[in-house]
Amino acid sequence: MIKIEQLSKIYGQGDDQVVALEPLDQQINAGEFVSIIGPSGCGKSTLLRLIASLEDPTSGSVTLETANLKRPVGFVFQDAVLLPWKTVAENIRFPLDTTGVSRKQANEKVAELVELVGLKGFEKSLPKQLSGGMRQRAAIARALADDPPILLMDEPFSAVDLLTRETLNDELSRIWQKTGKTILLVTHSVEEAAYLGSRVMVMSPRPGRLKATYDVDLAQP
Ligand code: ADP
Ligand code: ADP
Repeated sequence: MIKIEQLSKIYGQGDDQVVALEPLDQQINAGEFVSIIGPSGCGKSTLLRLIASLEDPTSGSVTLETANLKRPVGFVFQDAVLLPWKTVAENIRFPLDTTGVSRKQANEKVAELVELVGLKGFEKSLPKQLSGGMRQRAAIARALADDPPILLMDEPFSAVDLLTRETLNDELSRIWQKTGKTILLVTHSVEEAAYLGSRVMVMSPRPGRLKATYDVDLAQP
């Protein structure tokens, strides 16, 4: 569970001050898929970075109640930040190299993830040999490698062409159902938010503020 209490973020000082996020209270249950939409600059990325502790809040707190306290969060960025000199398999296993799991376990995990994200046959490819969509698949697999219960995604498919994007959305939906992860996805697309999320959070800009949340009825196509 993710408990967000009076969480706010102000960048800069004095005249340069930017209120990125107004105090936010929100509870996200384990296994939920929350899509976050809103115009550019409304604090979506800031919210994700605060949840991931990549940034310190100005006020308030984020409490992650999860089993894996060592690494509760996996992060997927807009552009896959794969290591260019490493193969797909090496990139995916990278987070495991520091966790002390055996070589055998790591190999098994990589094989499982390659299968999950549909990259079978591309294990030995270098990132530059892959399409944008495939690189994002590899980035998702890497984010899942040390099994974080929470997956945070900041416009993961925005640099991918529309057709591939639809495939990736289906893929992500399948991954969610299969793994039961808690997923927070930032997107510009209302369709994507409603299609993927079990809940949609709508943010309004200047200053970043939660405007509304909607529960998506999964029984309705
Ligand atoms: P979004 O993801 O919705 O586009 P962001 O969270 O990136 O919004 O940004 C929210 C606001 O905070 C914007 O006005 C942005 O310019 C500002 N901002 C984001 N990061 C920084 C930063 N590191 N320093 C100063 N201002 C920032
Ligand atoms: P997004 O809309 O996807 O959040 P942005 O272009 O708003 O992308 O931000 C990209 C990066 O630039 C972020 O890491 C953010 O922290 C930083 N950034 C955004 N606005 C500012 C700003 N006014 N000053 C400094 N850094 C910023």
